Amino acid sequence: MIGVLAIQGDFEKHIESCTRVGEEALPVRTIEDLNRVDRLIIPGGESTTVGLLLQRFGLGDEIIARASDGMPIWGTCMGMIMMAKRIEGHEQYSLGLLDITVRRNAFGAQVHSFEDEISVDFLSSPVTGVFIRAPIVSEFGPAVQPIASYNGAVVGVRSGNLLGTSFHPELTANTQIHEWFRDL
Ligand code: GLN
Repeated sequence: MIGVLAIQGDFEKHIESCTRVGEEALPVRTIEDLNRVDRLIIPGGESTTVGLLLQRFGLGDEIIARASDGMPIWGTCMGMIMMAKRIEGHEQYSLGLLDITVRRNAFGAQVHSFEDEISVDFLSSPVTGVFIRAPIVSEFGPAVQPIASYNGAVVGVRSGNLLGTSFHPELTANTQIHEWFRDL
C-alpha cells in the first residue's frame, strides 16, 4: 500500500492519483500509519511547517529509518525539499535523504506558478509539469541521477529508491509517474 504523508499540503490529490492507478493509498499522520505502508509520497506544501511537525512527533526519524531499509519515497515540490540534505539559505529541518542542494522558490516571487511540458528520463512521453513556488536542484552528489530539467535547471532526481520532482504530477490527469512509482 502507498502512504501519502498527510500532515499538511496537497495530499488529497496524490491519494486520488494513486486510486486512479489502482493502488490503495493511506494518509500517513502517525508512526502506526507509516508501519502499514510499503512506499511513501511526500506531497507539496510548506516545508518549514511540515519539518517542524515531523521533528516534533518523531515521524521524521521513522521515515529516515524506513528509507535506509529501502522503502521507495517520492517527494513532490515541498516533498523534495524535505528529502534534501541541503536547503540554500535556510536553517530548517529536513530528512536529508537525497544528496542534493535545493533552492526554494527558485523561479522568483513574480513567477508564482506556471506549467510547461517536461521530459522525464524514464517515461516514453512528456508530462505537464505544474510548478507552484517550485524549488530547483542546484547541486547533486555522484549517487544522484538528474531525470528532468527545465530551462537548464534540474527539476527531477532519482537516487535508487528515492525520487524527487519540483513539479506536481498529482495536479494533472497524467498518472505516468504514479504508475512508475507504484512499480518501483
Ligand atoms: N515553496 C514551498 C516551500 O518551500 C514549496 C511549495 C510547494 O510545495 N508547492 O515549502
